[in-house]
Amino acid sequence: HLRSWQRALRAQFPIITDHPGLAYLDSAATAQKPRAVLDAVRSYLVTANANAGRGTYPWANRTTELVEGARERVKEFLADPAPQRSGVHFTSGTTEGLRTIARDWLTSYLADGDEIVVPLADHRANIAPWLEAQALLAARGVRVQVRPMPYQSGSHDYDHARLARLAGPRTRFVATTHVHHVYGGNMNVHRIRQVVGPEAVICLDAAQSVGHLPVSVAEPDVDFVVFSGHKAMALPGTGAVWARQERGPAFAPGGWQGTPNTAGIASLTAALDWLEAAGTERIERWTVALAARLTDGLRHFDAYEILGCPLSLAAGSPVQQRRGIVTFRHRDIDSGDLGFILFSHGFMVRSDSHCQGDEGERSGSVRVSLHVYNTPEEIDRLLAVLAALR
Ligand code: PMP
Repeated sequence: HLRSWQRALRAQFPIITDHPGLAYLDSAATAQKPRAVLDAVRSYLVTANANAGRGTYPWANRTTELVEGARERVKEFLADPAPQRSGVHFTSGTTEGLRTIARDWLTSYLADGDEIVVPLADHRANIAPWLEAQALLAARGVRVQVRPMPYQSGSHDYDHARLARLAGPRTRFVATTHVHHVYGGNMNVHRIRQVVGPEAVICLDAAQSVGHLPVSVAEPDVDFVVFSGHKAMALPGTGAVWARQERGPAFAPGGWQGTPNTAGIASLTAALDWLEAAGTERIERWTVALAARLTDGLRHFDAYEILGCPLSLAAGSPVQQRRGIVTFRHRDIDSGDLGFILFSHGFMVRSDSHCQGDEGERSGSVRVSLHVYNTPEEIDRLLAVLAALR
């Protein structure tokens, strides 16, 4: 049943069906686009292209409505229970979203002596902005302590017991990743909320979860959700910040200054519609099963080391499961070389380093990241090639 559902969806990606000899296994970098998204962009550009927020004629009005409607669409997609009390700001991706929060909001929210928790083994996009905010504040004489988010060795989830010991009443901001972009672990954000209490702001980097699994702003209760539209099947140069607007000053960058990426925003609405119709729970089940197929196969080859959380999903703890990302390295083959070898067999993977922060892996690895268009046959062919390199 799931297989026929997936076949029908895969057929909607022209770049996939036009290249039957290739397997795209790099969706954590950016996702491919279904026809509905491509059509929505063209339709917008040929029927209503204008600038937004300055409506004195129908195309401009439609463009304004498109942008405002997209904000509501993002809230709905994130299961926002109180959309009248939240805001959505469009960005070029997660990097810009996190930086905007850091510069425009965090620097007014924090006071002298406050503490923030920063995940130093996460994507650099989720580290640099917080350190920059700390530096900007220091230049104004406001001292903010940065505490590194503690990790559990071997599991690559956070160490919630250690977090509980280091978090105190001055811990006012916690940055966390939802799904780790190298280890594939689904971080337990519920536990973070329990540990830091109801008052601390939690900012969720959902770059690897939006579009891959159901993401709700209420489960657990978070204050910011930041994601890249392009990783959720919208156009490159798209992304959004969802902000709860309850703790601290209002998050209101920009307003109608400048021209928004209207075609990109049209693509984002279409992508969220497509993902919702496809069903994010089913997408999650599909990609998790493919990741398990890959890790279960790789486990039998002792030349490979898999990075990250428990190898088999069956054996994985309920609090931290691998999603559709599997990163590994070969004992003797350089990971850059392994990337080239894999491409010579038609597999597109990410190899080398992965934009990880200071505490991340230093030596390279190969990352396979999956989406709904990937198939068990692709995994089996990949395993066959990897087996031959033993
Ligand atoms: N955070 C995480 C967890 C990511 O995986 C990525 C993209 N690799 C980013 C942030 C940055 O996203 P973007 O390049 O779209 O700004």
